[in-house]
Amino acid sequence: MVFLSNAISNSKLEGKDECTESDQTEEVYSSTVYGSRWSDQPIPRFELPEDEMPPHVAYKLIKDDLAVTTESALDSKPTLNLASFVTTYMEEEAEKLMYENISKNFIDFEEYPMSVEIQNRCVNIIARLFHAPVDNPNQEAMGVSTVGSSEAIMLAVLAMKRRWQEQRRAKGLSTDKPNLVMGSNVQVCWEKACRYFEVEENYVYCSEGQYILSPEKAVELVNENTIGVCVILGSTYTGHYEDVKAVNDLLLVKKALTGWEVPIHVDAASGGFVAPFVNPDLEWDFRLPLVKSINVSGHKYGLCYPGIGWAIWRSAKYLPKDLVFTINYLGADQASFTLNFSKGASHVIAQYYVLIRLGRKGFTSIMKNITKHADRLAQMLEATERFEILSERNGKGLPVVAFRLKHNEKMNYDEFDLATRLRERGWVVPAYTMAPHAEHIKLLRVVLREDFTRIRCELLMKDIKLALSLLDKMDRAAIKTMRSASQRWTLLKHATLAFKGHKNQTDKTYGVC
Ligand SMILES: *Cc1c(COP(=O)(O)O)cnc(C)c1O
Repeated sequence: MVFLSNAISNSKLEGKDECTESDQTEEVYSSTVYGSRWSDQPIPRFELPEDEMPPHVAYKLIKDDLAVTTESALDSKPTLNLASFVTTYMEEEAEKLMYENISKNFIDFEEYPMSVEIQNRCVNIIARLFHAPVDNPNQEAMGVSTVGSSEAIMLAVLAMKRRWQEQRRAKGLSTDKPNLVMGSNVQVCWEKACRYFEVEENYVYCSEGQYILSPEKAVELVNENTIGVCVILGSTYTGHYEDVKAVNDLLLVKKALTGWEVPIHVDAASGGFVAPFVNPDLEWDFRLPLVKSINVSGHKYGLCYPGIGWAIWRSAKYLPKDLVFTINYLGADQASFTLNFSKGASHVIAQYYVLIRLGRKGFTSIMKNITKHADRLAQMLEATERFEILSERNGKGLPVVAFRLKHNEKMNYDEFDLATRLRERGWVVPAYTMAPHAEHIKLLRVVLREDFTRIRCELLMKDIKLALSLLDKMDRAAIKTMRSASQRWTLLKHATLAFKGHKNQTDKTYGVC
């Protein structure tokens, strides 16, 4: 049966829907985002707006903004971003936990004692993973969650400096010129730490063929004013592990000769969650007696979203007491060593989730898989006979592939041009120059993160070959045009102009982290 409805004529209407005239015409907004007046106005960029806007409108405008701008178009395809070590994928359960705890302030020990307990569990697990000695109740390892490796490194540098000062003062010696020995391939946070905390940067420079710290040269540079030696487990430039054991052994020899006990800090930002699973016999951690502190980024191969890192010390002896603040809550003392006060607790909770969810087995399968993919990619690149591989294989370094073009006279393009062409296909493979004193070397780097699969590896390879064939056909003039066009795409268009012209002392490009 079909019903037919008739449209009632106006004169017959009873209780007609009255439409009251609004006295707030200005305030009326459409319930749709794009029909509202906010979509017809510039988004506030400089001043706090006088007026409110509805939450769904604010949400959508910001979301659209993020999706439209060129720099963030990359954000929307994290899987093609092969530049960064930082985690772009976490399981739903981890995200749920993070979201459920997003409002918790980690520093509120009193209100959220469980967050502190969870940090303690993480510190215990990580300290043991790094073979911290746990046999002496009077000399237990200590650790703290940080915002990332940078904060962890700042804390470690402060601790090394203060301990050196205390020892020097006790002997009546000058504390005027502390220095830190490190390779010129250090991440920028080491330069920051040295400048912020007034420690001289004592560099071992890289050279052609030597892209990481030379243990011999490092130990040669050590003097009575050296507060520590930084050794990197996973150079950001090429992924190489620096030889912590060699530095340890040479420093022991030097100690026997001079009496100076110089601590090693291992910057294991990337390698700390890789080496223990892929290369468990490699001695780089607290198994070596002079390794007194280690940092690791939870948001790199610790597989958490950005905002978490760890600093671990061999024992309280290496954490001068006057740097540690004691906060009393509910009658119990809580020691605090951080650069900031408030921070979210959800990242600490997420790290705990990853640790107990994956266990040794889970980490091992993931890290071994990406190590295998890295080796495969390196092999495929080599098979083109167009590239030289600069990174390690077989798990002897990070799961990254650093490579450069084999140049010949006929070639009109370089690594930066190849990066530009790959970008046109959506891939972010950074090109950069090597660390100071080897900066004439240009290279490209692919970082393999957890979600880099074999199939993605093959797709990337296909696009690299395509990019090469396109570049091979371009003459000098065409390459020049492409370069000037791509310059207009500079990522940080709105970078602050206040320091324009200010020259940084080292003037180096950093391997992207
Ligand atoms: C990433 C990285 C850092 C800085 O770590 P954040 O967690 O980003 O602060 C320091 N050192 C090395 C070797 C790194 O790879």
